[in-house]
Amino acid sequence: LSRLRRTEPTLRSFIHVADAAAEREAEELDRRIASGEKDAVGPLAGVLVGVKDNLCTANMPSTGGSRILDGYRPAYDATAVRRLREAGAIVLGKTNLDEFGMGSTTEGSAFQVTTNPWDDSRVPGGSSGGSAAAVSARQCVVSLGSDTGGSVRQPASFCGVVGLKPTYGRVSRFGLMAYASSLDVVGCFGSSVFDTATILSVVAGHDKMDATSSSQVVPEYASELVSLDLLESKPLNGVRIGIIQETLGEGVASGVVSSIKGAASHLEQLGSVVEEVSLPSFSLGLPAYYILASSEASSNLSRYDGIRYGGQVSADDLNELYGESRANGFGHEVKMRILMGTYALSAGYYDAYYKRAQQVRTLVKQSFKDALERYDILISPAAPSAAYKIGEKINDPLAMYAGDIMTVNVNLAGLPALVVPCGFVEGGAAGLPVGLQMMGSPFCEVKVMVLITFRT
Ligand code: GLN
Repeated sequence: LSRLRRTEPTLRSFIHVADAAAEREAEELDRRIASGEKDAVGPLAGVLVGVKDNLCTANMPSTGGSRILDGYRPAYDATAVRRLREAGAIVLGKTNLDEFGMGSTTEGSAFQVTTNPWDDSRVPGGSSGGSAAAVSARQCVVSLGSDTGGSVRQPASFCGVVGLKPTYGRVSRFGLMAYASSLDVVGCFGSSVFDTATILSVVAGHDKMDATSSSQVVPEYASELVSLDLLESKPLNGVRIGIIQETLGEGVASGVVSSIKGAASHLEQLGSVVEEVSLPSFSLGLPAYYILASSEASSNLSRYDGIRYGGQVSADDLNELYGESRANGFGHEVKMRILMGTYALSAGYYDAYYKRAQQVRTLVKQSFKDALERYDILISPAAPSAAYKIGEKINDPLAMYAGDIMTVNVNLAGLPALVVPCGFVEGGAAGLPVGLQMMGSPFCEVKVMVLITFRT
């Protein structure tokens, strides 16, 4: 807590810090351990976690980064949060994000801008920028985020931490404020692959409150990792890795390309075969993602009507109540997405936009499936650049959207992906981290994590 108090004035990664509750829970834990109840505490006893503020937490504010939910305190925990607490983890607070997850920098939060721990004039990435910065600055041990189009992986890359986006359906979305339901996944951040593996085993698994959650058995991810013989000289013998050609071309910073190539040759030295693979539909994923995500958002966000959640405005009739609440409660980016989504879904344009985007999604899915039949995993950068300056892209939404090119396809295809630090580019006092993204077939989280363990 003292570290948090020291760093938070600069970082602003938390919207809400539950310090009194955290201290109480820690004391209670000490008491139980001292009185010999050690076995009664869970596997994550005392582990401090940060939770992205679009995940509901009982008796704590849960704003989604939006004014429209200012003052909202849910009566329940999101399933992922409940499972962490049941395992003994202590929720330290709620981390900052772009409003409802729409953005790539946390500048879209209605409350504050989080800074990058490597250079406080730069963004931490987004939308889970608060969760990434909090782990990077060791304000907490691990954190939860959500990833609709890269919101765990891109901030992990910008902040130099490990970020894991599980397979769609691997973790329950119950209690996650819906952005684009067919793409949303709860993910996690840690300072090692082992930490994220530990968290995933706790939060993953079927949940009767989310019909899209998978009932596939949840492996003990962390113990599968430690059972490996890391001392073997060519531990990746026989492993086939595809490096996605389209992710190393024009528009990608040269320092990012060289870091990724460096990681690829390291993987080769460890015995794997690395080959370039082309995914021709790769660049189509970005426009398709923005059509689909905005369309789903325009529907999901209709629940914020000024009546059910948050504060109330006074109005003379119902339409005025809706209008006033939404005009005052939503920020600029959210309004823009609702307009884009409503437009794409409207009768005259549905075939040209939404339907076409769905067709592209099928193509993207198929091209990843084909490639993953030939390779165990695919690799790429997690973002085309390292962290950029606060304010640099705020007035240029298209430039900001373009930065999501590396990550959105994975959500369209529902695949698991892991980001780990793999190099640095110039900038800040000590350089700026670059993240390597590794993608696998559905429910092959272990394969993705096992390989990257060797990067150390
Ligand atoms: N930056 C992307 C967007 O704004 C991704 C966000 C996310 O994954 N939540 O939609």
